[in-house]
Amino acid sequence: MIVEMKTGASKPQVDVVVEKAKSMNLGVQLNLGTDKTVVALLGSNTGQIPTEVFAVLPGVESVTRIMKPYKLASREVKARDSRVDCGGVEIGGKQVVIIAGPCAVESEDQLMQAGRAVKKAGASILRGGAFKPRTSPFSFQGMQEAGLELLAKAKEKLGIPVVTEVVNVQDIELVSRYADMLQIGSRNMQNYPLLTEAGKSGRPVVLKRGFSCTITEWLLAADYLLAERNNKVILCERGIRTFEDSIRFSLDISSIPVIKKSSHLPVIVDPSHAAGHYSLVPAIAKAAVAAGADGLLIEVHPNPKEALVDGLQSLSPSDFARLMKELKPVAESVGRYI
Ligand code: PEP
Ligand code: MN
Repeated sequence: MIVEMKTGASKPQVDVVVEKAKSMNLGVQLNLGTDKTVVALLGSNTGQIPTEVFAVLPGVESVTRIMKPYKLASREVKARDSRVDCGGVEIGGKQVVIIAGPCAVESEDQLMQAGRAVKKAGASILRGGAFKPRTSPFSFQGMQEAGLELLAKAKEKLGIPVVTEVVNVQDIELVSRYADMLQIGSRNMQNYPLLTEAGKSGRPVVLKRGFSCTITEWLLAADYLLAERNNKVILCERGIRTFEDSIRFSLDISSIPVIKKSSHLPVIVDPSHAAGHYSLVPAIAKAAVAAGADGLLIEVHPNPKEALVDGLQSLSPSDFARLMKELKPVAESVGRYI
């Protein structure tokens, strides 16, 4: 952390900064310029010290961080890529893992048809929301526990792991009983009690990026899960709010290489919620794989026109099967396989 003193700051003011740093067991390097003094603060935990501690002191012009504020999610703490096991499927290795299925579980028939179709086309994990975080309280909120039971049935019949969203702390135990992996949705990325309890569940967690959150805030949210000694964390980029309104959300493709550089955690991409329209999903999915995503989360419905939630952005089984074929050479071109 670098503390820049104001031009002409007095020696007693510099001394206060130095004493404060020493009281926090930080190393201090003083750079006494002719007009300006710069104080470098050294220590392994400077990323976690609020800059305000020094910014409020008299004579201080600015305080700049050098260390990242997130800790456990950072490459500084763990240099090698993390690989996460989800019900026997490894995420973060050479394989680009495809997770697919309906936005919401609607019926046994709907889920089984979707499940059979995505498995046949090569998906490794089935998705399906039982608890839906809806913008309107009057929209379909999901089948809840009955939906979880259908997911368990589909898992047993199809022999593939399932992922489903958990929206509140009280449901974590219930959802963990049925799901191989918990999903924390975009709207809950900064629900810290939910993150802490999901971390404690020990289940793998796919943490979606809050659509108004920076990458730093996203990695700090991941730290909440990792702080509970749950290292099975997968990040999911799903698009952010920008001024652009011709698409549901702007997919921040650059977050993939940025995450790869700054974190050891696997990162997957959800092209469906970014696109908002089925016709845009394939191009975004291919771009994500080319950019280095470790997997994709894609909404597929046996009959999108009849879907209770997100039908417009859901792929039909035949569109999904075509996309899976098109993704293979893209994955190979970046040294991966599907
Ligand atoms: C979902 O995956 O169905 C979902 C609600 O996604 P998000 O949290 O990214 O909006
Ligand atoms: Mn959805």
